Amino acid sequence: AMQTVIETNQVSKVFNPGMADEVKAVTDATLKINKAEVTVLKGPSGSGKTTLLSLLGCMSRPTVGSICINDKDVAKLPERFLAQIRRQTFGFIFQQFNLIKDISVLENVMLPLYPLDVGLREIKARAESILDDLDILKKETVKVQRLSGGEQQRVAIARALINRPEIILADEPTAHLDTRLSQELLDILQNMNGEGKVIIIGTHDPLVYESSFIDRVIEMRDGMIQQIKESGK
Ligand code: ADP
Ligand code: MG
Repeated sequence: AMQTVIETNQVSKVFNPGMADEVKAVTDATLKINKAEVTVLKGPSGSGKTTLLSLLGCMSRPTVGSICINDKDVAKLPERFLAQIRRQTFGFIFQQFNLIKDISVLENVMLPLYPLDVGLREIKARAESILDDLDILKKETVKVQRLSGGEQQRVAIARALINRPEIILADEPTAHLDTRLSQELLDILQNMNGEGKVIIIGTHDPLVYESSFIDRVIEMRDGMIQQIKESGK
């Protein structure tokens, strides 16, 4: 049987509830994602993609509804447990690379592991191995602002992978990339999926949601899931 990794039931997120500026960002989202599946959240700007991704990634909590990650309901967990699950389970790729200027490529990639119980030598070895996989190890001592856009993208991906996450969340990952770099990013995501990782991408880029390795497209509008298309790839 398929192993369910994420399951949500009637999840809603309301910002500023009861106030004049109340926003129902996500309403009644019910979905299920199995091991090694690739899911796209597709929808126009403001449709709730980022909000749903941040709920799935334990970066915020739903107003109502349940979110189970590997059968554990995380919706009501206190922040310190939520943070622990977040660090151990997820890798995040943002549209802005969110790299830290003035420190090297290697240090940027090592950073997420500092709060975890991993020795410094092990952290460095892992970081160098991932940079090597992404073919950017030769730049390890360079400060990130001196890299090209495509190189920065790969450093951001390396950083997302350093904790060996089971689930990769990518929010508009191609928004600032040209077609060639977008395709390179998709190839990397496809490889990661080939290694068994769950991938969830928020996007309105057809290059992404029309890719052949996508298992499921969840179409969102006004915070609601309009339809879920399974590709049966
Ligand atoms: P998308 O990523 O599809 O563009 P978002 O999830 O960012 O959509 O936003 C969904 C809706 O929630 C929008 O109307 C947005 O303005 C609103 N929203 C998002 N974050 C907040 C917040 N922190 N406070 C108030 N409203 C928010
Ligand atoms: Mg967004």
